[in-house]
Amino acid sequence: MVGWAIALHGGAGDIPVNLPVERRVPREAALRHCLDLGVSSLKSGKHPLDVVELVVRELENHPNFNAGVGSVLTTQGTVEMEACIMDGKTKRCGAVSGLTSVVNPISLARLVMEKTPHIYLAFDGAEAFAREQGVETVESSHFITPENIERLKQAKEANRVQIDYTIPVQKDLTGNVPIPNSDSQLGTVGCVAVDRHGNLASATSTGGLVNKMVGRIGDTPIIGSGTYANHLCAVSATGKGEAIICGTVARDVAALMEYKGMSLAEAAGYVVDRSVARGTCGLVAVSATGEVTMPFNTTGMFRACAAEDGHYEVGIWP
Ligand code: ASP
Repeated sequence: MVGWAIALHGGAGDIPVNLPVERRVPREAALRHCLDLGVSSLKSGKHPLDVVELVVRELENHPNFNAGVGSVLTTQGTVEMEACIMDGKTKRCGAVSGLTSVVNPISLARLVMEKTPHIYLAFDGAEAFAREQGVETVESSHFITPENIERLKQAKEANRVQIDYTIPVQKDLTGNVPIPNSDSQLGTVGCVAVDRHGNLASATSTGGLVNKMVGRIGDTPIIGSGTYANHLCAVSATGKGEAIICGTVARDVAALMEYKGMSLAEAAGYVVDRSVARGTCGLVAVSATGEVTMPFNTTGMFRACAAEDGHYEVGIWP
């Protein structure tokens, strides 16, 4: 029997080290709360699949993260949420994209996994499936918060598609000058967990990138990019989706363990250092033997982890 372990993230990016207290503290508190929730669920014998779904739902319900109610907006001011869940032992998985009304996308991803012959549903079909399954939905306007309208406005003014934490840069007479904007800091969420029997699961949920094109799909719902789990490890990534997709980040961690015999930390470190450009990626991962690792090549990553051996950590910067 091995020890249980859990890790979660609330997004990686260029998180300014002078992040205002009122932005930092609620997120740290949410990470700690979600970590404790995950730990007690694992300890009570819940399957890791249930644990990662539960934790990600909690993060989706938190307005300070870029998923569920905190989801950022597309270039047209609309919301298109995506999520993915995967079970390590069976490799069963479910994914959704283009959601406009579903309160907890991660649970719809799980229903795709459990109730359909498919893996991935998107846009109208995914919304119709949500209604058929009776999951909680709300008017799309529920997600279009003043904070997210402001974020979109700033991204448009800076003419950029924005990773969650990027401070918009606007030109003045002296060149590129960052405009301090503490409102642009929020991030994709994810959770990975392993129980004492080596059952592994991964879940990731996001609103994507600020000012993304309508219809854009990122790494989060793509199996092997933002989310992956097998019999060796479970991985959830965050950062620039396009870079993570090209790097097949989550699957590469598992592949390096499987084919090269690397440890979890070696494999995850290798991928974050070499498979993706600096400033684009972070991930959380656990192995079947209860190891945890949370590497990132961005300024910071909102993250938290705990393991049966007593390791407990909540952090933002290196
Ligand atoms: N990876 C997400 C995306 O590109 C964004 C993030 O992780 O914050 O959609």
